[in-house]
Amino acid sequence: MAQSSQVVLRVEDLHVAYGNIQAVRGVSIEVRQGELVALIGANGAGKSTLLRAILGLHQGYKGKLVFLGQDVTALPPEKRVSAGICLVPEGRGILAPLTVKDNLGLGAYPRSDFMQVSQDLNKMMGEHFPILGQRRGQKAGTLSGGEQQMLAIARGLMAAPKLMMLDEPSLGLAPLIVNQMFQIIADLKARGITILLSEQNARKALQAADRAYVLETGTLVLQGNARELANDERVKRTYLGGDTCSR
Ligand code: ATP
Repeated sequence: MAQSSQVVLRVEDLHVAYGNIQAVRGVSIEVRQGELVALIGANGAGKSTLLRAILGLHQGYKGKLVFLGQDVTALPPEKRVSAGICLVPEGRGILAPLTVKDNLGLGAYPRSDFMQVSQDLNKMMGEHFPILGQRRGQKAGTLSGGEQQMLAIARGLMAAPKLMMLDEPSLGLAPLIVNQMFQIIADLKARGITILLSEQNARKALQAADRAYVLETGTLVLQGNARELANDERVKRTYLGGDTCSR
């Protein structure tokens, strides 16, 4: 990815605490237009906290957040969503009693271009995720884990985001479905969508990403080109050797 492309997100010296627990300690990251940037790290490293803070879901954090040139540090979450930031949360957050189609429709709530929303909805259930089209009238809670994750991503896309943050999209999925999920992520990237991906599955994340940041107990310990990081001895030893990373 050319370093000259536009900076979509810049996080400067971010600190987030839960009471006395410092979950994110002075993290600075950048995501450029069209990039797929991975955030890797073990359980509890602070990945979800960082993504949630970017969306504005944490009170009292310190640091600066710039989105498409605008300082959004003081903006509430709904304004950040309207500006184009989307988070597909860990655990998916779909509304189980609602149908697939209604879940997708809810994803478009920040938009007012209703004609385009209707076209996008048809595209989402046709061209992009035909399986969701087949299941359009089905309650979301009855979908398989992989289908629910697909729905969560498609719902995020319905907001027409300028930055898509995916929190652990492969969590809890069978290996075959994990591969499908990473294919979906690769397709999003091929469509030019800018992505910040949090993943414990470092091997897959580094294969998919342009660049990556490695987070340990709330601190960035490594960053760089994803291919180079995949060959880094420390990354190999810590993140690519164990069972969880060889999925
Ligand atoms: P995981 O993949 O398990 O979600 P993570 O890298 O996303 O891990 P976070 O969930 O951001 O990590 O957690 C970072 C730290 O903050 C951990 O020590 C965690 O125990 C703590 N933490 C997270 N949420 C809360 C909370 N609501 N209250 C108190 N501590 C929290």
